[in-house]
Amino acid sequence: MNDGILPDRPNMRPDLWFDPKTPGFAARVAQMDLDQVEDALAASGLSWRDDSQLFQFTHPDEVMGLIRDVYGLWSKERGQHVLFDNHPDLDRMRQRVAMVNQQLMHTFEVGVTLNAKGLPEINFSTLRAKLSFEAARDLHDTPDFRDCMWCGGWFTLKRSDRKFCGGRCQTAFWREKQKET
Ligand SMILES: [Zn+2]
Repeated sequence: MNDGILPDRPNMRPDLWFDPKTPGFAARVAQMDLDQVEDALAASGLSWRDDSQLFQFTHPDEVMGLIRDVYGLWSKERGQHVLFDNHPDLDRMRQRVAMVNQQLMHTFEVGVTLNAKGLPEINFSTLRAKLSFEAARDLHDTPDFRDCMWCGGWFTLKRSDRKFCGGRCQTAFWREKQKET
C-alpha cells in the first residue's frame, strides 16, 4: 500500500480534516488511514454521510486506494508547499476517476437538483461520491496545496501567505507558541 504519504502528525485532528468547508477536503482524507476515516465518520453529523451506503459497492480499501493514488500525484517541495508534477500517469488516472464517477451517477450517489432559485446544484449522498468528484476536479484544476503549520492537513492554496487551514489551527498554534516563551 501507499503508506509513504501517511504522515506522522501529533496534532492531527480528524474533525478538522473532515471539515468539507475547508478547501482540500479529499486531499486531507487521502492522508488519513481507514480507521481514522471511520472514527471521523462516526463522530461527525455531516448531512451527506450515510454509513450504510458509504462503501456499498466498493471495498473501503479501494476507495482509499483511489484517492491516495490521485493525491500521490502531488509531491512536497521544500517547506510546506505541495505541488502537482506533470505526471506520466495523469491520463490513466483521469480515466480511472471518470470511470468511477460514471458508476456513481448510475447508482444515484450523485445527482443534480434545482435549488430555490431554479439553478442546478450537485448533491452527494455518499462520502465516496463526494471524494471521487472532488478528486476529479482537483485532477482538472491541479491546485497547489500547503501543509497546515499546526495539524499538517493539506489545504488548497488560495493566498500564498496562508500558513494554516483555518482559524482554529492558527489560534491553537499561537496559544502553544505563547506557552513556550
Ligand atoms: Zn490545521
